[in-house]
Order: sequence, then C-alpha cells, then structure tokens
Amino acid sequence: MTSKNNLRDVFPSLRTLALVGLQSTQNLMHRHPRRVSAAVLALLAGSAMTAFGVAPLTVLPSAPPPTITQVSEAVPLSELAGQLVQLDAQSLALYRTDVTRPNDTVDTLLNRLGINDPQAAYFLRHDPIGQTLLLKRTGKMIKVVSDNGRLRELVARGPAEASAQVDTLFTRLTVTRDASGALAAHTEQAPLLATSQLASGTIASSLYAAADDAHVPDAITNQIAEIFSNDIDFRRELRKGDAFSVLYEAHTADGEPITWGGSSGRVLAARFINKDKTHDAVWFQEPGRKGAYYDLNGRGKTRAFLASPLAFSRVTSGFAMRFHPLLQRWKAHLGTDYGAPTGTAVRTVGDGRVSFAGQQNGYGNVIQIQHSGDRLTVYAHLSRINVRPGQTVEQGQLIGAVGATGWATGPHLHFEFRIKGHHVDPMIIARASESTQLSPLALAQFRQMAVTVAQRLDTAGQQQLAGAHSSQRFE
Ligand SMILES: [Zn+2]
Repeated sequence: MTSKNNLRDVFPSLRTLALVGLQSTQNLMHRHPRRVSAAVLALLAGSAMTAFGVAPLTVLPSAPPPTITQVSEAVPLSELAGQLVQLDAQSLALYRTDVTRPNDTVDTLLNRLGINDPQAAYFLRHDPIGQTLLLKRTGKMIKVVSDNGRLRELVARGPAEASAQVDTLFTRLTVTRDASGALAAHTEQAPLLATSQLASGTIASSLYAAADDAHVPDAITNQIAEIFSNDIDFRRELRKGDAFSVLYEAHTADGEPITWGGSSGRVLAARFINKDKTHDAVWFQEPGRKGAYYDLNGRGKTRAFLASPLAFSRVTSGFAMRFHPLLQRWKAHLGTDYGAPTGTAVRTVGDGRVSFAGQQNGYGNVIQIQHSGDRLTVYAHLSRINVRPGQTVEQGQLIGAVGATGWATGPHLHFEFRIKGHHVDPMIIARASESTQLSPLALAQFRQMAVTVAQRLDTAGQQQLAGAHSSQRFE
C-alpha cells in the first residue's frame, strides 16, 4: 500500500513558524501529481515505482531540452503498454532517481538507473571529479536523464565537503554530455533550504514500515515515538489501522528532502491515532523557556519520567519486552526486560542522583538512580557504565549500554522502578508523572496556532486516505 502523500511548502524557519503560526503558508500547499507518470515509468523499467521521479533536473543551459512524456490518468494499463512502444520509437528522455547504497559500484548504480553506457561508466571511474560520485557513498541522491540507456545528464547531491557545513550546504556533482558526445563533470557547494514536510501513514505491520511507505526519515519516526511515548506503548499497543500524520522540518537540496543523515529536522506537529484514540502534539517555544511539545489544549507532553530507558528506534523496536519473568534461581528479579543488542544506549528516565554504579550479584553491572519523592530506578546487565556514584543526572542522559553481565541469558536491559522500595510498572508511573505547563499568556498564543496545525494534520490524514485508493489501480 502506498501512503506517501507529501504536501510541501516553504517555511522561512522554525522560529517564524512559532511567531506567525501556519496561516500564511496555506496558500503555498500543493500536491505533487507524480503517481501516474511514475507508474508509467515503472512499467518501462519493470522496477519499483518508488524509485522514480519525474520532476525535471536542474537542466543546464548546454543540455538539449528533454522530451517529457505525459500520460493521462484514465488510460488503462493495456493501452499504456501500447503507447510505450510508440514512445520508445521516438527519442524518450527518461528521468530516474535513486539513492546510493553502501555497497554500490559504478556498475550497480548505473544498472539501477537503467543506464547501459560503457563510456559513462568509464568516465565515472576515471575522471578526477566524476570518480568522486561514490565517495562517502551512502545516501547520495542521484538523478539521471537518459535516452535508450545512454546517459545525457547525471546530478548527484550529497553532504557538504566540509563537515562543519553539513547543516547549511550540500555538494552538487553534475555530469553532462555535450553535442559532440563528450562527458564533463563539475562540482559545487550549494545552500540547503529548510522546508516543512507533511506526511501521513497507516500501520499495516510496523511503525517503521508505515514510515518507510510515507517516506518519513527514521530520525523523524524516532521523534514521533518519543513524543507519544507516554500516551502509547509502541512495543505493545500498536494496532493494524493505527494512523499518523506529521509535519516536520526538513532540509532540501534543490527542492528534494535530503536522504543523508546528520541534519534531520524536528517534528513540528504530529497526530497519532491509536486504537481509535487521537493524540496530538505541537512544538512550541515560550519566550525564555526551552521548547517542548504540547497537546492541543496546551498541556505539556514532557513528563518528569520517560516511559522507557531505551530510545525507541528501528533497531530496538524489533525486540520483545517482558514483565517480571521470574527465574527460579533469582527471586529478586522483578522488573521489565528490554531485549536490545549489546551496546544500545541506556538513558536515565528522570532527573536524579546516582546512588550505585558497579557490580552486584545477578544484576551484573548495574546503576541505581535516586529521584525525588523516594523514587528509585535500576538499570542492570550493562556492558558499560558511564556514571559514578554521587553524580547528578538529567532526564534522557546516557548512563551506560545494554549488555549481558550477571544472570542474563542474552543481551537485554533489566529495568526496575521502585517507589519507597516497592516495584511499580514504569509506564504507569511515566503517564502519571508531572508535566510542563504554559503560562496563561503563552497558552492563548499557543491555542491560536494549534487550531491551524490541527487543520493541517486533518488534511494530511484525508489526503492519505485518498492517496491509498488512487494508487491501488496500479498495484
Ligand atoms: Zn530482568
């Protein structure tokens, strides 16, 4: 099922968003009607339609005007096939996009892009600029124009050359073919733009699969899980049919959201519908205070305790969690076990002071943190301890790493929450714990903005439903 439905509009900056609200951007919304064209191109190449784009490249002055083929939506597939034969007889410029992968070679990349051009392959292997194409190869965005497998133009967009500039610039490598057939390459640094993206998805198998379908980057999905972690237990409470909409900041290179890591933006607003219950979150920064997420009534979503000592991620989401597994030989074993690979970061769920950090029988390497109100948390079987007894820690601070020390059959985090010495369910505690509040003045301001944001998230949800229907005829 395809659930991508990006509405894209330009925000000058996040700060402006907070000040003026979202009203001014409404007119700029537009859909990208790529679906039909993409399906046609997919037929041509016999490949996944998500690998294609039909937006024009940054066409250089020297490049010949490309032939752009449009096919109307009403044409059934069998007739399209006939048209494609005709189109093929003419010179058909094919636009294709892809992203470089860790093991890519010039050949595997060109092959995926539908390029069968030994001259281009030779050029990319030997030209001093051309051969930088696959340097730092993961996640570069590639667009090519080809005709009958012959490369006309290739543009690769990747991280800035200077690591200090990865949040502001990107590298644009362009390979062009002139009238005589000779290839040339040049490279330049160009500015990234901050934009906002609106996306939505429906859970069919997992949160990350739905996010992939909606082309939402992992960094944003992780934030969504974190924002709603006190409302929804993403390990146990997700249901098929749950849905989300998210408005997030994204950096774009020549209008395309960047695919390389390192400078993912922030979630500006999100909605999660879990078991028919709707949860909303909007980022808001009250002057003079730290920014935070609030529900539509202005109640803070940040609590005194995190719901989980492990950040939810694509890696940790695949592991089971279990309560109070009583091993006969270890009577004291009461708590929550989080399966996770050795080395996964462990964070303290609340502000406090380290009351123990060292080895204990059964627990292995273990940290205890004392919080206000006679509340104590325990983190056991660690492979690494990053804190010392007596040290004060802040909520979310990394204190160690998952391991299998002590009585553990495999790597996992054993976590306990005790109030006055009694074990309690950490999720219940997190949900009931203290939350941040807006001042009355900020609250009035916030509510105005929240109305507009809610409308945007509504739109995203509706578009998503419509998109799911219209895409089905091609699948
Ligand atoms: Zn345990």
